[in-house]
Amino acid sequence: MRLHNKVALVTGASSGIGKGIAMRFANEGAHVIINYRPGSAREEESANAMAASFTPKAIAVAADVSKRAEIEQMIDAALAEFGRLDIAVCNAGVCPEQPFLETTDEHWNQVLGVNLYGAFVVSQLAARQMVKQGEGGKIIFTSSVHEDIPYPRYTAYCASKGGLRLMMRNIAIELSPHKINVNNIAPGAIATPMNQAVLDNPEELQNALSEIPWGRFGMPEEVAAVALFLASDDASYVTGSTYFVDGGLTHQVTAY
Ligand code: NAD
Repeated sequence: MRLHNKVALVTGASSGIGKGIAMRFANEGAHVIINYRPGSAREEESANAMAASFTPKAIAVAADVSKRAEIEQMIDAALAEFGRLDIAVCNAGVCPEQPFLETTDEHWNQVLGVNLYGAFVVSQLAARQMVKQGEGGKIIFTSSVHEDIPYPRYTAYCASKGGLRLMMRNIAIELSPHKINVNNIAPGAIATPMNQAVLDNPEELQNALSEIPWGRFGMPEEVAAVALFLASDDASYVTGSTYFVDGGLTHQVTAY
């Protein structure tokens, strides 16, 4: 049990990568706060089912991570239940397509609001609690290979993930005196609901696979394995780093 009795918050945990991380953390002995986006019966059902099946005790908490007040309430709920917070995984994200010339303020604000502002507020409130506890902590952001490489028609998404890249490095330095490790995981193409349209379209799938040296999509469990490492004592001297989990995609794409 590598996370025995730790308390871990995972945002966007009712599906995909966040779900994989929450399940892995629970299997390793952590109490998990399973955050899900309000307003979706499917996600609420999934989060509640996860909480009911996890041991040790887990809770499902609805909160829109683009809203500070909802994040505050979520952290309060976590502290009321478990009394502390050791690990925060800022994973919630959206990835809608919109060509640059047509990008609206609404689109920009939605993507940056969830992916970057949400990660900022969740990590800030989590870090304040960790500093108060005085025993260090772990903060992990789910970034993307697009914190580094361009993705035409997804300018807002790239801006949000590029922002995470340097925000994480800055926070890592500022929180070093408090022994809080701060790192990014940068997934490549992972088989989650976010990629369902590509997975369901044979032509698009073939195009996507041709860019991945490993020749397949990654699985949420493969991202969760890296998250577990970064959340564990094994990563005690790792901070300010991005871990790519991409089957070599980054190097293939940048090769032409
Ligand atoms: P997903 O759609 O299954 O998960 C995203 C989660 O974020 C969902 O549970 C969704 O409800 C939640 N979410 C969205 N808006 C929210 C909000 N306002 N408040 C709270 N929760 C909200 O897709 P995924 O692939 O598991 O994505 C998880 C993270 O991984 C995202 O940050 C995404 O950008 C990143 N990522 C995914 C891939 C991939 O190939 N799947 C690649 C790189 C990065």
